[in-house]
Amino acid sequence: MDPVRIAIIGMGKIARDQHVPAIEGNKAFSIAATVSPHDGGLPDIPHLKSLDALLEEGPAVDAVALCTPPQVRYELAATALRRGIHVFLEKPPGATLSEVGAMESIAAKTGVTLFAAWHSRFAAGVAPARAWLAERKIEKVSIIWREDVRVWHPGQAWIWEPGGLGVFDPGINALSIVTHILPRPFFLTEATLVLPENRAAPIAADLHFKDTAGAPIHMDLDWRQTGPQSWDIIVETDAGTLKLANGGAVLTLPSGTDHSEDIEYPGLYHRFATLIGGGRSDVDRAPLRLVADAFLRGRREITDAFYD
Ligand code: NAP
Repeated sequence: MDPVRIAIIGMGKIARDQHVPAIEGNKAFSIAATVSPHDGGLPDIPHLKSLDALLEEGPAVDAVALCTPPQVRYELAATALRRGIHVFLEKPPGATLSEVGAMESIAAKTGVTLFAAWHSRFAAGVAPARAWLAERKIEKVSIIWREDVRVWHPGQAWIWEPGGLGVFDPGINALSIVTHILPRPFFLTEATLVLPENRAAPIAADLHFKDTAGAPIHMDLDWRQTGPQSWDIIVETDAGTLKLANGGAVLTLPSGTDHSEDIEYPGLYHRFATLIGGGRSDVDRAPLRLVADAFLRGRREITDAFYD
């Protein structure tokens, strides 16, 4: 079968760090073009300034990977889906739940694949964690996601704007894992969102959830962490404690610790190829729904102004 000709839209940090090598390493795809308003693209690959320009004057493509900030994602996705082009959505899949629902309807109507990619679900420890927890009684869950925004998101103005999610931009990765590994659904009961006085999105948040059996889940999100960073999920069960560290890469069970290499983006592109081959979509809105609930129900606190 011929490789799927894919265009990468939005040549920023994640496109360059992860999408380009993952696509180049997968025989099911070939990079046909890149699109970005300011970036210069890749050597020897056609580069266009906008999706419209690609569709009018660029090479033909079968798929696009949308690696832009979420605020512009709906229009790009809708345009591509209406042209019969398969769409890979970076996380979060959109800026609102309803626009993601609208994308799904267009994909269903035009019969192409829409893939809402949650990269953290493809971290090495996540599948074995899910399998181990399926048999356990969950007693308590702690999520600690504390990182230094100046290190990980320097100068990303969009992340502080409405729809950029602030500290939930990394926090939604934790929620994508927890919604995948816990055997029962869970929901928000209480939240505090801490916003710098000069920004529209939170720099920290404290959230309480519970699952349908009553197990408490606490989430500590903070972008002001200097020194050691934490991307940890700890699940206490009737058979001992499970810990997922390093964003899902390192799994510790009562029987020992398993360190594995980074397989997230190769896993995502393998999944995208399988979905395209099978004529299916995969759009799970659960992590975005929990974030939306935090914005819906959370108490706001204002803190010191934040400058990059
Ligand atoms: P970024 O470095 O700011 O890159 C975003 C790029 O999107 C910019 O380079 C910009 O291109 C481009 N862009 C903006 N509007 C566009 C449009 N209308 N059409 C085409 N391109 C457009 O952001 P990022 O860190 O890569 O994050 C992008 C997405 O990936 C976010 O949803 C984020 O949550 C997700 N993500 C990021 C990471 C990470 O570690 N950074 C990890 C996983 C997922 P120009 O520079 O050409 O203007």
